[in-house]
Amino acid sequence: MSIKINETVCNGCGGAEESFCVRVCPGDLLKLSAGGKAAIRDPRDCWDCAACVKACPRQAIEMYLPAQIGGRGATLKAKTGRDKIIWTLKHPEGREEVFEIEAEKVI
Ligand code: SF4
Ligand code: SF4
Repeated sequence: MSIKINETVCNGCGGAEESFCVRVCPGDLLKLSAGGKAAIRDPRDCWDCAACVKACPRQAIEMYLPAQIGGRGATLKAKTGRDKIIWTLKHPEGREEVFEIEAEKVI
């Protein structure tokens, strides 16, 4: 699996020196393209840790899920707040399921 980045939604973190997703990826897999959008160097190196998915303030990054979980092409995205993460699982046919996970401190 890997991630997919919505280039229409990504704003490159507004020109910040280092964007949130680039900063958190433990494998240094993400970069900003010449157009100022996030891009993954090689999707095959991604191990689906979801750090970038949680870190993006614009929910521009989704993670593909194994077919056994949501069906082939299902994705997961996150909206991270101060004390909870709202996960949205999107099934291939468009149906969405929302899970809210509370945490002491998630960011
Ligand atoms: S954190 Fe989100 S908005 Fe910022 S560069 Fe990455 S994908 Fe784009
Ligand atoms: S899911 Fe994890 S390993 Fe994959 S690109 Fe995002 S931060 Fe990097």
